[in-house]
Amino acid sequence: MLVLFEPCHPTLLQTTTADSYPVRRVFCIGRNYEAHAREMGRDPDREPPFFFTKWAETVVNADPDDACRIAYPPETHNFHFEIELVVAIGKAGFRIDAAEAEQVIWGYAVGLDMTRRDLQLEARDLGRPWDTGKNVEQSSPMGRLVARDAARPNGFDPGSGRITLSVDGIVKQDADLSELIWPVKDIVAHVSRFYRLAPGDLIFTGTPAGVGAVVPGNRLVGEIAGLPPLEITVAPPADS
Ligand code: MN
Repeated sequence: MLVLFEPCHPTLLQTTTADSYPVRRVFCIGRNYEAHAREMGRDPDREPPFFFTKWAETVVNADPDDACRIAYPPETHNFHFEIELVVAIGKAGFRIDAAEAEQVIWGYAVGLDMTRRDLQLEARDLGRPWDTGKNVEQSSPMGRLVARDAARPNGFDPGSGRITLSVDGIVKQDADLSELIWPVKDIVAHVSRFYRLAPGDLIFTGTPAGVGAVVPGNRLVGEIAGLPPLEITVAPPADS
């Protein structure tokens, strides 16, 4: 049997060692910080967080050494940054107990959930899917992954630690992981009720308040205490 064309290969995420991590699926938690839910016009006391998905191919390596450039995407006039802690799954799991959730986590990274906000809000208000707003090509840049056991000695704690995003050196998002409405272990448990988690699955854990629009030329730096930073430059729209 012949394969008709070259199958697409998964994004290989850089880690802090020589190993690379093949990306399988991307899950994203929405409205998981109270102040961000409120800036989106929602009341987190009445609506709990939730999740949606993006294609694995939206993930790009954005270690500061990569000089990563993200083309401003088509069909939007309001392209937003959302800095997030990303959990990388390393073991299969289904209906995982929150108390056991850490066992299936391979490691952690800093990630961006770049969003066509105009299209997302239009879809939200019309009760339509979020695909054109969220599932955007190159919309999931990530810093280097750190293995779980290597992260903690570096000062990383998934339960607390500063998370920031700056644009051209000016801090726009500045919060603490302790503000997550659903902590990491509850996120893993929740998503695993609906999907059989497997190695290669990434979970973006939600963004704090302060999201905003970018323009071509902006340089974005995302940081979480104890993890390698990410850095991207927004490039002009690509014609093809
Ligand atoms: Mn997000």
